[in-house]
Amino acid sequence: MNYKILALIIIAVSCAYRLALSVVRRKSFANPVPENVSDVYDSETYAKWRRYSAEKASLEVYSILASSFLTFVLILTNAFGWVSGMLGNGVYAAALAVTLFSALTEALIGIPFQYVDDMIIEQKYGFNRTTKQTFVSDRIKETVISLILACGLTCLLTLVHSWLGSRMIIVFAAILFALILLISFVFPFLTKIFNKFTDLEEGELKEKLTAMLEGHGYHVRAIQVMDASKRSSKTNAYFAGFGKTKTIVLYDTLVKAMTPDEICAVFAHEMGHGLHRDTLKNQLSSLISVFLIACAAYAAVSLPEIYPSFGFEGVNYGFAMILTGIALDIVNPLFSILTNARSRRAEYRADAQAAAEGYAGQLVSALKKLARANFSHLSPAPVIVMLEYSHPTLSQRISAIERCGKR
Ligand SMILES: [Zn+2]
Repeated sequence: MNYKILALIIIAVSCAYRLALSVVRRKSFANPVPENVSDVYDSETYAKWRRYSAEKASLEVYSILASSFLTFVLILTNAFGWVSGMLGNGVYAAALAVTLFSALTEALIGIPFQYVDDMIIEQKYGFNRTTKQTFVSDRIKETVISLILACGLTCLLTLVHSWLGSRMIIVFAAILFALILLISFVFPFLTKIFNKFTDLEEGELKEKLTAMLEGHGYHVRAIQVMDASKRSSKTNAYFAGFGKTKTIVLYDTLVKAMTPDEICAVFAHEMGHGLHRDTLKNQLSSLISVFLIACAAYAAVSLPEIYPSFGFEGVNYGFAMILTGIALDIVNPLFSILTNARSRRAEYRADAQAAAEGYAGQLVSALKKLARANFSHLSPAPVIVMLEYSHPTLSQRISAIERCGKR
């Protein structure tokens, strides 16, 4: 079998698939807006939303084409094989040379698109709060973190495979899973590299949130406000921390835009996720996905005959990671249909929890404010919802919340 042609076909098919989704998404901008969300945008804002979404969609098409073209050309010309000897001929040096080259070219092609997205399109529609300075320092921090992660994973794969052979699947999956847990553990610390946190001032909101959460057995360590407005006017809120002890993080944009009862409604929803152990279920599903990654990585390193067709003399672990990524481009869309369906069910359950706490009306108005602030799509194509949406559409959520209220 010619592995190079197979890889090129997969890259082309995956590019075509993503472009097709982009076309469907663009067509859906003309879909009629459902009755129960028709008051989210006035006609002027809705026209603006359509222009904004069309610009984002065009940028997406160029970005898909550019990144697919780059990968296609690098594979076609055996560029990775050519780069592999640059840091020396040792197994680790050859692998790291390929990994660094791949991560750097990805950053090089990704950053201009992100610049257009953040600093031009988001700026034009009034969402961007990022200064050029913050943008540059963010990208430098991100690139450094992703280089460290990519090199770390490559070394890990090299070590585990040369050490354990076929038993590496379990160990590699276990280490990846431990890393995911570790990242969610250090996430609160990581966000501190990018943002500043201050304690929420004493008052009605703090008392209500603390009372509601403690009523369900949670211990609230702190309620903090994050300076998200430094980067964007978009808004959000989340729980941080393990077990029953939680830190609540509110975006400053949320505190400014919502009434105390609406913020409580958002948090009753988050608490619903906690009560149904949704984070734990998400972690189980990531355990399945790291197992898939480990299987694909094992397949890539156990077939030395693959590598000569890409310009290598033998197995290159850095390139094995790239091949793993290409193979997963086929599996991931199928896997995400299942995980997204499960996630949407969890969202309905969490909304029902907020309704049960007596916040149905406030949740509806909070969700409408969130949709407005985040410039959400009100009438996405059902096929896109099935494939990509981790949350039901606003209209679906409001219908479900209203049904809870009637029961
Ligand atoms: Zn949720």
